[in-house]
Amino acid sequence: MKKTIDDLQLNGKKVLIRVDFNVPIKNGKITSLKRIISSLPTIKKVINEGGKAIVFSHLGRIKEEADKEKKSLEIVAIELSKQLNQEVIFINETRGKKLEKAIDKMKNGQILLFENTRFEDLNDKAESKNNPELGKYWASLGDVFINDAFGTAHRAHASNVGIASNIKESAMGYLLEKEVSALSKVLDKPERPFVAIIGGAKISDKIGVVSSLLEKADKVIIGGGMAYTFNKALGFNIGNSLVEEDKIDLAKEYLEKYKDKIVLPVDHATGKSFEDQERIVNKNNPLQILDGTMGLDIDKYSIELFKKELENAKTVLWNGPMGVTEFSNFKYGTEEVAKAIYKLSDAYSVIGGGDSVAAVESLGFEQAFSHVSTGGGASIEFLEGKELPGIKSIQDK
Ligand code: AMP
Repeated sequence: MKKTIDDLQLNGKKVLIRVDFNVPIKNGKITSLKRIISSLPTIKKVINEGGKAIVFSHLGRIKEEADKEKKSLEIVAIELSKQLNQEVIFINETRGKKLEKAIDKMKNGQILLFENTRFEDLNDKAESKNNPELGKYWASLGDVFINDAFGTAHRAHASNVGIASNIKESAMGYLLEKEVSALSKVLDKPERPFVAIIGGAKISDKIGVVSSLLEKADKVIIGGGMAYTFNKALGFNIGNSLVEEDKIDLAKEYLEKYKDKIVLPVDHATGKSFEDQERIVNKNNPLQILDGTMGLDIDKYSIELFKKELENAKTVLWNGPMGVTEFSNFKYGTEEVAKAIYKLSDAYSVIGGGDSVAAVESLGFEQAFSHVSTGGGASIEFLEGKELPGIKSIQDK
């Protein structure tokens, strides 16, 4: 068992808190406050207990000096201060005298945010490659370390693994703890029937999670671009749809081994090219995709089938869209699946992955899910059964 924030003595301590403030920014404005709001319970706990909260995060990718201007965390410091109704000291450095002095001057209950940890990537990728000197330096700025950034827990970076390996005490924050307990509940002791829905573009990205779920779930619904490789393996015409030829044999193997578990779309909304356009459905035989068209969404018979599979589910896990949700005409399948899960009143439901979460949020259905994961890649790797380095590096109780 990993230590959690509740196991730590925080009063008077310099508490380093790695959060996920990798927020979406458009025209100089933060467009979703979700990640900031999700970090508040941990930060509040630290300051309410009389700790000095030294907060940091990455924001986007930094490849060259010019990237820095648009990727400063100052805008987040302003928002965080609003959310907490308290001053947030912002230091526009990731190391050095200015930062060290500001930390020395902090009083109990104060909050300091320092600059985007990935600014250090201009220095031979020190953050992303977990440069040992950098992790050691950041660890030296505090007494204890709390990791609350689930979104990067699948990466061994200086700001998570580097610090955790160089500090006396480390623990999970409330958000990380919540993610781990929700995903573990699904993987380790799901109430049955357990129905998983996997969508998105590529089998190769999700093959690990598909095979892990085929072992654990009672049904695995496969939608999105991934489904066409399976449909081709079954001998259906898939027209110009996305396909991974080198995964057809594997798809055949799974279809054989798990024939009672895998549920595939039975109709398709197609288009002639990869753009927003009229939905074309093959009325005569909805299972076959017409030559010259490609599958861009599932259609009503698939929705009916998927709804039926979901009807009695007690545990639902969903990752990845059922169609190209970037195009308004091909959002239908993903939105209908969201509605079907929304209606399950006594199921434990977990959703992860950027596009499926965005679909649920645009419908205002996120409250209907027992847990909305803040991590895309991290939740996939967790569900594959991998131990995430950001979590592994935290001390045991
Ligand atoms: P992922 O990041 O793996 O969850 O995949 C999300 C991407 O899958 C989105 O960009 C969707 O546009 C894409 N996608 C979903 N369905 C299809 C499809 N039928 N053909 C091509 N891409 C798809």
